[in-house]
Amino acid sequence: MERKVRVRFAPSPTGPLHIGGVRTALYNYIFARQNGGDMILRIEDTDSRRFVPGAEDYINESLAWLGIGIDEGVREGGAYGPYKQSERRDIYRENVKTLLDNGKAYIAFDTPEELEEARGRIANFQYDASTRGSMRNSLTMPAEEVERLIADGAQYVVRFKIEPDREVKVNDLIRGEVVINSSILDDKVLYKSADDLPTYHLANIVDDHLMEVSHVIRGEEWLPSAPLHVLLYEAFGWQDTMPKFVHLPLLLKPVGNGKLSKRDGDKLGFPVFPLEWHEPASGEISSGYREKGYLPEAVVNFLALLGWNPGDDSELMSMDDLIRKFSFAHCSKSGAKFDYKKGIWFNHEYLGKADNALLAQLLEPTLVENGITDADPEYTAKAIGMVKGRADLVPDLWTQGDFFFRAPEAYAEKDVKKRWSADTPRIMEELIGVLEGIDDMTSANAEKIVLDWIADKGYHLGNVMNAFRLAVVGACRGPHMFDITELMPKEEVIARIRRAIEKIPVPAND
Ligand code: GLU
Repeated sequence: MERKVRVRFAPSPTGPLHIGGVRTALYNYIFARQNGGDMILRIEDTDSRRFVPGAEDYINESLAWLGIGIDEGVREGGAYGPYKQSERRDIYRENVKTLLDNGKAYIAFDTPEELEEARGRIANFQYDASTRGSMRNSLTMPAEEVERLIADGAQYVVRFKIEPDREVKVNDLIRGEVVINSSILDDKVLYKSADDLPTYHLANIVDDHLMEVSHVIRGEEWLPSAPLHVLLYEAFGWQDTMPKFVHLPLLLKPVGNGKLSKRDGDKLGFPVFPLEWHEPASGEISSGYREKGYLPEAVVNFLALLGWNPGDDSELMSMDDLIRKFSFAHCSKSGAKFDYKKGIWFNHEYLGKADNALLAQLLEPTLVENGITDADPEYTAKAIGMVKGRADLVPDLWTQGDFFFRAPEAYAEKDVKKRWSADTPRIMEELIGVLEGIDDMTSANAEKIVLDWIADKGYHLGNVMNAFRLAVVGACRGPHMFDITELMPKEEVIARIRRAIEKIPVPAND
C-alpha cells in the first residue's frame, strides 16, 4: 500500500540556516504539497554544545518569509510531537534500551585517553568488530562489573554493534541503489550518559520512524550516514516502513571547485543566508537575502533550479508552477554551481512584476535611512512603478528614483557641460512660465504644451529637454520627463528649475 507522503525538514539549531538548508526545506515542501502530504519541521537539538540561541526563531522566520509552510512542528503542534528532540529524551532512552536488550547495541566505558591509546596501538583504529573485543565494554566485561560501574555513576556511551562484511543497500530516488560493505562502518555512538541524550543518528531514525516519515529528503552530505540508518532501521525491525531516501546534490562555489561556503559569499558579495544573522557570541553580522533586497519569490525560483530542472526551458516559475512540475527524475546527481548572478537576474524579473504598493513598503527602510520620513506611500508606489524596470534589488529603487524624494544636491558635470549653455537660464525661466500656465499636468497634456512651445520658439529640443531633466533630476537619466512631472507637485518642479538656474554656473561664452 502506498504510504501517505510525510516529509520532514530537520535542522539543528547551531547557527543561521544556510542557503543549502533552505533549498532542502524547499524541496521537501514542494514534494509534500505535490503529493497532498505533510511537511514536518523537527528541531534536532541533541548536541547541546553546539546550540546557538536565536537559531530556532531564525529558522522559523526564514521559512515563513519564503512561503515554505509547515504542517507540524514546534509552533504548529501536531499529533506526532514533541517536535523538538531535546523534549523527547524518554522516547530515545526507551529505544536505546530496546537495542541493548536485543543485543544490537552495547555499553562502552572507554575514556578519551583509552581511545587515544588504542589509536596509537592499532593502525587505522576504528571501533568495530575487529577491535571492540579489546576495549572496555559490556561485550568484554562481566555483567556485574558493568552494572556496578553504572550504579557508581561512571560515564558511558551506547554503541551500535555493526555486523561486519554485510552488503548494505541504500535506495536513493536520485542516485539509484548505493551499496557499501558494513565493515567500513564503525560502531557509532548512539547515546551518551554524560548528557542523557542520543546522538544524531539514533534520534533521527527513531523520530523518522515514529513520525511516519515516508521520504527523507536531505543534502548529499548525509549520504555517508544513510547505510548506518538502514542498518538501524533493521536493528529495530522497522525495515518495512523504512522511508525512501533522496540525497540532493551539493551546492558548489560559483567559481572554482568545491562546496559553497560563506567565504565565497563574502568575497563575491552575495549572501549565503536567507535573513541577516547577528552572531550572538561575536556580534558578527552576516548579510541575508531579505535585507539585501531580494524578493522571496525570486529566491525560491532561483533555489528550485539549483539541482533540478523542469525538463523544458521554463525559468520563471511560481511556487504553484514548481509544485506542478517538480520531480526527482529531473534532479541531478552532480553538484549545482551557485550562480548568484542568476539569482540577481531572477530578482530583477520579479521586481519588475511586483506590486508597487508592496515595493513601497519594502523601500521604506531605505527611504528612512536617507532621511525621507514623510513620503506618501501612494506617491512612493507611483514613483517606484516608473523605475522598477531598472532595478535588480530593492535598494536600487532608491538609487534609480531618489530625485522623486529630494531635489538634486549637485548636477552631473558631464551633462552640465553638454546641456547647460549661456542662454539656458533664460530658456528655463521661460519654461517656468509655460509650466505655470498648464492646469492639467498629466503627462501627455504637459508634453504637448511644452513641445509646442519649444517648436514655436525654434529651440533645440534635445538641449531644452535635457536641461529641464538636469534641473529636476540632477543628471540626464530617469524615466520619461513628463511622467516625472505628472507625479511631482508642479511647485516642486518649478522650484527645482529656479534652483538650477541659481546654482549651475553659466559658461563664460559659447
Ligand atoms: N539535523 C540534521 C541537519 O542538521 C538533519 C539531517 C537529516 O535530514 O537527516 O541537517
